[in-house]
Amino acid sequence: MGTNKNEIATRLTIKDILKGIDGISKAMVGMDKVDEETYKKRKNICVTCDKIKMKNGDFKSSKCSMCKCWLRYKIKLNKEKCPLNYW
Ligand code: SF4
Repeated sequence: MGTNKNEIATRLTIKDILKGIDGISKAMVGMDKVDEETYKKRKNICVTCDKIKMKNGDFKSSKCSMCKCWLRYKIKLNKEKCPLNYW
């Protein structure tokens, strides 16, 4: 059974949302950023993971169904970890 957007939204807490805003902000300004090799390694793992939710095959719009993070930002941040320890 699939998960719809309303189910995801109701499971997110204010803490999750604030963490997401913090992470996106840091990724956008380049703070706490991983090197290019790590970024590519993480991206390659995520694009082949069955937990990725991607629209029209576009990684920029992809989210992780486990942590609900936008992957384009998450994989750039040094402090971030895959919720399933794949990277
Ligand atoms: S963060 Fe981990 S669980 Fe989520 S899509 Fe990437 S590899 Fe999969």
